[in-house]
Amino acid sequence: MIIDLRSDTVTKPTKGMLDTMLTAEVGDDVYKEDPSINALEQRLADMFGMDEALFFPTGSMANQAALKLHTNPGEQVICDKYAHIYNYEGGGASFNSGISCKLVDGHRGMFTAEQAETSINPPDFYHSPLTSLIAVENTTNKGGGACWDFEELKKLRQVATNHGLGYHLDGARLWNALIVKDQSPKQYGELFDTISVCLSKGLGCPMGSVLIGNNDLMQGAIRVRKILGGGMRQVGFAAAAGLYALDNHFERLAEDHKKAKEIAEVLSKNTSIEKVEPIETNILIFELKSDVNETDFLNRLSEKGIQIIGMGSNKLRMVTHLNYSDAMHERLLQILVSI
Ligand SMILES: *Cc1c(COP(=O)(O)O)cnc(C)c1O
Repeated sequence: MIIDLRSDTVTKPTKGMLDTMLTAEVGDDVYKEDPSINALEQRLADMFGMDEALFFPTGSMANQAALKLHTNPGEQVICDKYAHIYNYEGGGASFNSGISCKLVDGHRGMFTAEQAETSINPPDFYHSPLTSLIAVENTTNKGGGACWDFEELKKLRQVATNHGLGYHLDGARLWNALIVKDQSPKQYGELFDTISVCLSKGLGCPMGSVLIGNNDLMQGAIRVRKILGGGMRQVGFAAAAGLYALDNHFERLAEDHKKAKEIAEVLSKNTSIEKVEPIETNILIFELKSDVNETDFLNRLSEKGIQIIGMGSNKLRMVTHLNYSDAMHERLLQILVSI
């Protein structure tokens, strides 16, 4: 039995999802003629109470498009030092938008409104890049699936408004935060100018992300998507998977969270492990004791069929997901006691 906990992106479409995909109505989405894509976009726009939504092949492309829509070359985005847009999008911020990132030294990928405010370059100080955007991530990936305090997000909205900055949410795993915090998409729609969400993480779709926002900014989104090479033709098959996932794979995220907590309990008793970071959602980050060799530890797990990934500095990551079954969970807990 292979237990793959490297990421929640390793899932395969469920039978129900595949059946829905097979019978999806499709058309040429570059001409906006794909009924399944149009339905998914409309559903997400309505769900978040925003004007428009646009389907993207990946979350990285959705985020990159958002950066482009909010900024001009030479400007600067404020984000956490752990941010996906900074660490894991191939340097796209500078490549695609010609912007730099002002990194905030936050906690678990999150920072305070005060930290953001002090990171803003004075607009009349022409020696520095012009600050034009604040970008946050919820849940945080490198921060171990941590969820933002909604009050802090509101304060950040105020900072953005006061300084005329855009406000973007990388909500690749926003679904997980909504479930665990019992929040509604509309709360987020009211706060942010743009929001990207992934269908290919916890929701278990083979592909797809959606950028959601209001008319003023989103007007240019379809052109930016075309420029980035993200205009696709009969892509409604993927939208059908997304619609299916919203109906069938959203509420169940609570199960992934519960399993992650149970794994953490066992891990925290393991003598090779220094510390397990607090578990809020489906990501579990833990640190090995300094005398434990990371490669050896990973090999021992791998011999038992367990796949997880290293995050650097003796930290390892596990992510629970749709294809991580109860049987796998039981087996993993047994193995972790003795590893
Ligand atoms: C996965 C992820 C993305 C998008 O990743 P893609 O692989 O490009 O779909 C964006 N932000 C965060 C925080 C993520 O975890």
